[in-house]
Amino acid sequence: MTRDGSSPDGLPPLREVIAAHELNAKKSLGQNFILDLNLTRKIARACGSLEGKTVIEVGPGPGGLTRALLLEGAAKVVAVERDQRCLPALAEISARYPGQLAVHEGDALEADWEALTAGRNGPAIIAANLPYGVASLLLAGWLETEPWPPWYERMVLMFQKEVAERIVAAPGSKAYGRLSVLAQWRTTPKIVLNLPPDAFSPPPKVSSAVVQFIPRDQPLAAGSAKMLARVTAAAFGQRRKMLRQSLKSLTPMPELLLREAGIDPQERAEQLTVADFARLAELMEHGPASG
Ligand code: SAM
Repeated sequence: MTRDGSSPDGLPPLREVIAAHELNAKKSLGQNFILDLNLTRKIARACGSLEGKTVIEVGPGPGGLTRALLLEGAAKVVAVERDQRCLPALAEISARYPGQLAVHEGDALEADWEALTAGRNGPAIIAANLPYGVASLLLAGWLETEPWPPWYERMVLMFQKEVAERIVAAPGSKAYGRLSVLAQWRTTPKIVLNLPPDAFSPPPKVSSAVVQFIPRDQPLAAGSAKMLARVTAAAFGQRRKMLRQSLKSLTPMPELLLREAGIDPQERAEQLTVADFARLAELMEHGPASG
């Protein structure tokens, strides 16, 4: 918003857009909108330079983050929105930025991201104020992408704060778990912004945080995402048990596997580093290196 109350893109303020299109927020769709364009521009800036870039956005809603991404220089935004009530509001943004906004109505969980961004110039960026009900599932899908390095060069995603803390948690902490290992194995996640409930309309019950993920060129070891998911599910599924016990669901002789990986079988899941888990997954998949 500029000093005289108008928006820098010449479009009406979001509060007016929501009123004009009667976009009363639906809880079932996780609709908590950010109306402050200064705030959405801050999130857009966490994407780094957007010049010439194609950005994928999940759940544009009335378009607060979409407008910020375009204002900050994105060449193209490809957005997937489930709520068709939002489409006329998004069409107004498309008219302001001809050829730069493609909106697909549908469920982001079923989207084929590479097909949606076909013809883009270089890797894409993913930016979203995610609907919290499907946030972890969407994140896992992006992190499990094959081949690696992936088709995106950065993700900037809003989660509820507790989930963001799990993503960046270090070994030994209560929050450390499957999501921490998967995220840190392939990317370097970092919380870049904390937001109180009143940053949203309507305010959710919980605080939120924006996490920036930069893909590592190489994951920490050569096991597959699928195998890493199996190993962490077994280990954290019984997180209070020693690994020689909890990994029995994975392999008949967990002690052998653990010793091969140089890990004390009496340790518990939360004591292992991400590299330890990656080594376990690699050994499960390829067996011990010969020679
Ligand atoms: N981007 C807007 C903002 O920042 O104000 C809205 C964010 S709101 C937290 C989440 C958005 O995701 C809503 O617009 C909602 O309709 C949409 N949504 C919910 N579930 C979805 C799904 N499975 N696929 C695509 N969009 C979804």
